[in-house]
Amino acid sequence: MSIQDVELVIVGSGPAGYTAAVYAARAGLAPVVLAGSVTAGGALMTTTEVENFPGFVDGVQGPELMDAMRAQAERFGARIVYDDATSLDLEGSVKTIHTGAGETFTAAAVILAMGSAYRKLGLPEEERLSGHGVSWCATCDGFFFREKHIAVIGGGDSAMEEALFLTRFASKVTLVHRRDEFRASKIMAERVLADPKIEVAWNSEVAKVLGDDQVTGLLLKSTVDGSERSLDVTGVFVAIGHDPRSELVADQVTTDADGYVTVSHPSTRTNLTGVFAAGDLVDHTYRQAITAAGTGCAAAQDAQHYLSSLS
Ligand code: FAD
Repeated sequence: MSIQDVELVIVGSGPAGYTAAVYAARAGLAPVVLAGSVTAGGALMTTTEVENFPGFVDGVQGPELMDAMRAQAERFGARIVYDDATSLDLEGSVKTIHTGAGETFTAAAVILAMGSAYRKLGLPEEERLSGHGVSWCATCDGFFFREKHIAVIGGGDSAMEEALFLTRFASKVTLVHRRDEFRASKIMAERVLADPKIEVAWNSEVAKVLGDDQVTGLLLKSTVDGSERSLDVTGVFVAIGHDPRSELVADQVTTDADGYVTVSHPSTRTNLTGVFAAGDLVDHTYRQAITAAGTGCAAAQDAQHYLSSLS
């Protein structure tokens, strides 16, 4: 197959990648977006209502928002390629990107926006009920569960944070944990244990999420004696961690101990000249569509300044 030489390749098609594409396209860079072969549009394609993305008074469906971002990028000349970057050579002044369908792109600049994946429980019904009671983000979805009984799964700091945050909405939060003590920091664990709205289901794992179209409960299995019991909840927040999708580039760009790509804040520059990174791939902390879009915008501007400096 022929090699296609372009100015800028953006890897990833979530809010970070598409926003970078809008800005880069409007700057006349005609970016190519490698959108992914099966998950184009990113994490919001797996959810329903998004109520906190500014500009949508009545909320917007996740896929609808992502479709609009894609169309907006295309309107200004971005080319969306529904394929995966399978190998990237980012170290020289010319970057080379190979795709799963056998195409090769060369570019002077690359924006990495591959996002991060929430760890899943691995249950068959989890995907089906995602956006219908199963969530990975209390900031995003807690509001939908006012005065409801919610379960949070996990035992680390992020599970503690999610549980404490959800007490603002829920009538009761049950924290489901496999062991008889938390892995979380002492101070977070103490806060959780002192909260009158939080109950802990110790030594318990989720055997099944119950419900056809909407979550109606959990089937919990004891990790001590294997006995099962049901828990009536309408929301389940899975908080067992997330992994940045940096594995393809981790031998070239600097990452932190958890695999997040490191950038020179407040810019989006990585350790490699001409390589920028944005969105949840770099973000431990906020992990929201709007923050990903914000850093996507910054990455496009950083790439544009870099490309202008070459001419
Ligand atoms: P992502 O959206 O994860 O997109 C990354 C993209 O890169 C994906 O399309 C992926 O397929 C692609 N990719 C990865 N590797 C490659 C490769 N090698 N080649 C090509 N493409 C690749 N945030 C909110 O603000 N409000 C909400 O209501 C909200 N609800 C959420 C509900 C759910 C169920 C989930 C999972 C998340 C939710 N979030 C919400 C969080 C939000 O979706 C993320 O913070 C945001 O999508 C991150 O954007 P991103 O562009 O960095 O990455």
